[in-house]
Amino acid sequence: SYPTYGRIDGPIVIIGFGSIGRGTLPLIERHFDFDADQLVVVEPNGDVANFLHQRKIRHVQEAVTRENYRSLLGDLFKGGQGFCVNLSVDTSSLDIMKYCRELGVLYIDTVVEPWAGFYFETAENAERTNYALRQRVRDEKAANPGGTTAVSCCGANPGMVSWFVKEALLTLARDTGGDATPPTDRAGWAGLMQSLGVKGVHIAERDTQARRTPRPRNVFVNTWSVEGFISEGFQPAELGWGTHETWFPENGHSYDIGCQAAIWLERPGAITRVHTWCPTPGPQFGFLVTHNEAVSISDYYTVGQADAPDYRPTCHYAYHPCDDAVLSLHEMFGSGIQQTKHHILEPDEIVEGIDELGVLLFGHEKNALWYGSRLSNAEAVELAPYQNATGLQVTSAVLAGMVWALENPKAGIVEADEMDHARCLEVQRPYLGPVEAHYTDWTPLQDRWELFPEDIDESDPWQFRNVLAS
Ligand code: NAD
Repeated sequence: SYPTYGRIDGPIVIIGFGSIGRGTLPLIERHFDFDADQLVVVEPNGDVANFLHQRKIRHVQEAVTRENYRSLLGDLFKGGQGFCVNLSVDTSSLDIMKYCRELGVLYIDTVVEPWAGFYFETAENAERTNYALRQRVRDEKAANPGGTTAVSCCGANPGMVSWFVKEALLTLARDTGGDATPPTDRAGWAGLMQSLGVKGVHIAERDTQARRTPRPRNVFVNTWSVEGFISEGFQPAELGWGTHETWFPENGHSYDIGCQAAIWLERPGAITRVHTWCPTPGPQFGFLVTHNEAVSISDYYTVGQADAPDYRPTCHYAYHPCDDAVLSLHEMFGSGIQQTKHHILEPDEIVEGIDELGVLLFGHEKNALWYGSRLSNAEAVELAPYQNATGLQVTSAVLAGMVWALENPKAGIVEADEMDHARCLEVQRPYLGPVEAHYTDWTPLQDRWELFPEDIDESDPWQFRNVLAS
């Protein structure tokens, strides 16, 4: 009795069959009408061959590369229709998206991924940022507006959290006695955030999923792509830079090209700690790992000119991954060596925990509001096969993005901020467990270590200077 959201004509090609690809498959099968013999998985890893063979799903056991992507995808999408679902690391989102639009094939991904080598072989830190990766996609959108829909960065975050920001704004408007009618365009949403006095947004996440056995030394353990997390963890920390900030980090760099909504720090994100807040732990440390949404949200909610805005919120990720991943990071950065053994926690080995992923809107009349999903692994396994709670938050956003693309096939290149958030959440919500709003009195000035004076700004709690841990 699952709803069918429409028919996908032509091939459905899933690129990459790791934790997210495997979790997305059953949702595609459940919610779309399509010809089963048109479903193809392109995945170089032979370990998945048996799984796909048993389900009679065609497996192209090849890596998509800069050299072969046009011939490989051109063959698979010969008829000029279908859907390309890019859930792989090391494949250029921009090149594949452009080619799909050329072919008239719908496209979705969950991150602006570059070709293999980018993260560790690019010399300049400014070039290794998500700002640089995203800006190229935005430039392509500006150069070629409209056309076949390509949804960029539609996972949990980036992705779903942009829809949560809008729900949180409407909640805040309602709870402060304001007009809670959803705005109909970008300027309306940005104006709403400004009028509510929101200074910034943390993508505030606490993952408490755990297994029974302790993490073995020299194994990087995570609840989603280890490769993806290591790559982004070694990128510079990045954040959307709000107009309320009065201080500028010594190791910070701004841009004079592109949307100019963000800055980057001369330091890897996965060892840059920030003070943040989630409902389960209350105050906690998160890592300021760079993410596309930190830039896109600050960009989307800008009022006025890019280089001299009247209003812009600060926005960044504040991520407490599962405890095993925290230990894995500690080991990796301490030794200077990337673990070669990787492990993604399987849903059936996790014995407890939830992925609490939401947005913390702060600095307004009611201080701070966290709005998000508090999905447990126990609930996730009841809802859909082959994935833990983290995976399901991502794959259900991919599903929502695919539905939206199918319903809006000529929308051009879009990010989650630019999609109909109500429709997307309507599709996604059955998979998110409890979705809740929590107000808190907490500010980054609280719960510090008073015996050690710090260089902070006592006059304005929500300055990034106070959020950044020394
Ligand atoms: P994973 O590491 O489990 O799987 C990635 C898969 O891609 C692997 O099976 C690998 O063999 C395959 N692959 C590698 N190179 C390839 C190539 N050239 N062509 C085709 N396949 C190739 O990763 P995952 O957890 O499934 O994540 C997949 C992607 O989704 C990553 O880019 C990750 O950053 C992204 N992601 C986004 C979100 C979000 O919320 N937006 C969340 C989780 C993951």
